[in-house]
Amino acid sequence: MRQKLAAGNWKMHGTRASLVEVRALVAAHPDPAVEVLICPPATLLAWMDAEIGQAPIRTGGQDCHAAASGAHTGDIAAAMLADAGASHVILGHSERRADHGEADATVRAKTEAAHAADLTAIVCVGETLAERDAGRTLDVVSGQLAGSLPDGARGRNTVVAYEPVWAIGTGRTPTEAQIAEVHAHIRAELRARFGAAEAERFRLLYGGSVKPANAAGIFAIAEVDGALVGGASLKAADFSAIISALEQAPAPG
Ligand code: PEP
Repeated sequence: MRQKLAAGNWKMHGTRASLVEVRALVAAHPDPAVEVLICPPATLLAWMDAEIGQAPIRTGGQDCHAAASGAHTGDIAAAMLADAGASHVILGHSERRADHGEADATVRAKTEAAHAADLTAIVCVGETLAERDAGRTLDVVSGQLAGSLPDGARGRNTVVAYEPVWAIGTGRTPTEAQIAEVHAHIRAELRARFGAAEAERFRLLYGGSVKPANAAGIFAIAEVDGALVGGASLKAADFSAIISALEQAPAPG
């Protein structure tokens, strides 16, 4: 059975003062029934790891370079994230695709680098509003999956996050039927590529304006194994409510 995952993406928010939120989260969830992950800015990774101590909350990066090391000013290698305590890394987030021109091939190479460093890659896919309006959502997601996932992807080292670009940070969310349709499509694509048994092991997250108020409804949708949460992961009270909703959601397949 797939383990549910509540993943927080702090994006470019947070300083050491923000660790107070992590302290509160650890206190609120000393023994979470789901996997809990926070992906802070890289500057906070080691501090956060120290703050978490032995508590069962994991940390992750928000990006890594495809190379193991080298002359890449400002970039971070996957092994460096692992060295700072990370167990996961978000790759191909739409903000990286848009702000840094990351193409599927780049995301794929980064995912391979993450796997080589024993990190779990959270690979993001999702359509823009124009693509949805043009009826191209499933085609876009298929293309991103085919291009971004390496052949070595497996359920144990890769999570797929469906994040419609128009729902990120906007307060807008797709309907439950729209989320269900795309998640079923992703599962079918994984089946076609990796085989039926392996496909069942990949966790599929929904991301885009998940909040305490809508979390339970989203977590009740078939094939939703958890969430990638941006804004609402910054405050322990909000993220804690989302974690609790996930703990109470029906068991994934
Ligand atoms: C995200 O950045 O991955 C995200 C889903 O953001 P938000 O929850 O703020 O929409």
